[in-house]
Amino acid sequence: MGPWLQRVPWRRLLVRAAQGAAGLTVGGVLAGEVLGRGAGWGALGPGDRAGNRVAVTFDDGPSERTPELLAVLARHGAGATFYVTRPAVQANAAAFQLIREAGHGLEAHGRWHRHALTLWPWREWAQVAWHPRAREAGPWQYRPPYGGHSPFTRLFAALLERQVALWDVEGRDWTAGEPGALARAVLAQVQPGSVILLHDGPAVTPALLDELLAGLAARGLRAVRADELPMRRIGLRAGLRRLPRSYGR
Ligand SMILES: [Zn+2]
Repeated sequence: MGPWLQRVPWRRLLVRAAQGAAGLTVGGVLAGEVLGRGAGWGALGPGDRAGNRVAVTFDDGPSERTPELLAVLARHGAGATFYVTRPAVQANAAAFQLIREAGHGLEAHGRWHRHALTLWPWREWAQVAWHPRAREAGPWQYRPPYGGHSPFTRLFAALLERQVALWDVEGRDWTAGEPGALARAVLAQVQPGSVILLHDGPAVTPALLDELLAGLAARGLRAVRADELPMRRIGLRAGLRRLPRSYGR
């Protein structure tokens, strides 16, 4: 090593580089979380607030509960969208086929049901790339598990031609609530254009759905597939309004 090289403060440069990388990582994670999940800017969210349609959506299926959900939807003449995961499709292939035959929407909820921040970037690429209709014509939606974003989620979705799809009303059917109370809580928040998040799996959901669909009809609101709503990109102002609700409970 020549005298000039010895004078270069390598250790300090390395520490600075590591600090810079850590700062970029923290900044990227925060940006992904707050801008991506919290505000949802650029993702698909609620549709026309002046119309008479809402979208009912189910995450995590298909499951042994799917036929019950389909029966309730059919009884009310309602459309819905199922955001399915690869393991659930593999475990419940017959239920997946029933959703398809009933004409409901089928979209992706991940190759694994894992939060984006628990996946290495190359695994998140595969997570976003998987879609139950990947071999058919798009458009294709991807709803990240837990709404979770990494610094790469939006980039990967854009490169893979996936539209990130979020929601504005939660059914909270993963809690131990009574179906009538849960349905009333949804109806208290729902507006024309709302995208309602429910789950394909919990025991409470079919009864909740039955009461919810009756309540929506009583208010003149029609439950349709997410692509029939249609969902709209979340803009600057709508994103700002989402932020306090995303972090307020
Ligand atoms: Zn999920």
